[in-house]
Amino acid sequence: MLYIGCHLASSKGYTAMGKQAVEIGANTFAFFTRNPRGGSAKALDLDDVAKFLDISRDNNFGKLVAHAPYTMNACASDENIRRFAREAMADDISRLEATPGNYYNFHPGSHVKQGVEMGTQLIVEQLNTVLTQSQTTTVLLETMAGKGSEMGREFEELREIINRTNLSEKLGVCLDTCHIWDAGYDIVNNLDGVLEQFDTIIGLDRLKAIHLNDSLNPLGAHKDRHAKIGEGHIGADSLIRVINHPKLKELPFILETPNDIDGYAREIAFLKENYND
Ligand code: FE
Ligand code: FE
Ligand code: ZN
Repeated sequence: MLYIGCHLASSKGYTAMGKQAVEIGANTFAFFTRNPRGGSAKALDLDDVAKFLDISRDNNFGKLVAHAPYTMNACASDENIRRFAREAMADDISRLEATPGNYYNFHPGSHVKQGVEMGTQLIVEQLNTVLTQSQTTTVLLETMAGKGSEMGREFEELREIINRTNLSEKLGVCLDTCHIWDAGYDIVNNLDGVLEQFDTIIGLDRLKAIHLNDSLNPLGAHKDRHAKIGEGHIGADSLIRVINHPKLKELPFILETPNDIDGYAREIAFLKENYND
């Protein structure tokens, strides 16, 4: 079963997202849990959530992949930025219990000259503060392109964070195809090799979701600029191999390509046509 979707605007609530997903042929989706510039999230409307859960059940949705605000930086040098990261993540995790058992992915952060070791410590501190035994949401660390001092450009960095987190059973990984390509993992010529590396270092059982994006830049560019499927350096054929790979094909695939909603609908249709059930 292909679980495919894209980023949807969350401003009108869960039911609106569920309906829009169905309209564009999606059976999963991503959304930002709150405004990236910070501030508090809108109060949860439980009627809205209940209606959404019906839509989700009736249409056999896969797991959702909620996205933390991309400005969240758990390993910032500024304590106020770290406090926002901590409070926003704790609040998001508790709110996501309204739609239990889904995924919540976040960018590990940028260590801003503090170094990878300090970055790791601060991220682990945050996770050890906010993760709870009772949560049903799995928190996903996203693989990053390695722009500037971004953490998570190497599988080893994610492994280290997972190793040092107390409730590591609540953690998984979201693999972004644009980001790992930009980080230097050659998924065009050696997808099997990259997945073997992932398996050796992190373990494929931790891999819970894929951000399916083409990249405007060549392998190892450390840039992070997404392209439409087939309009970048990764190319449609390689991305079709990703969705059909036996080790990946049951995961939720989320498009984060530069598209309006019609463009997303076209990419979803294209990927469905090229998926082997
Ligand atoms: Fe992301
Ligand atoms: Fe991503
Ligand atoms: Zn990106």
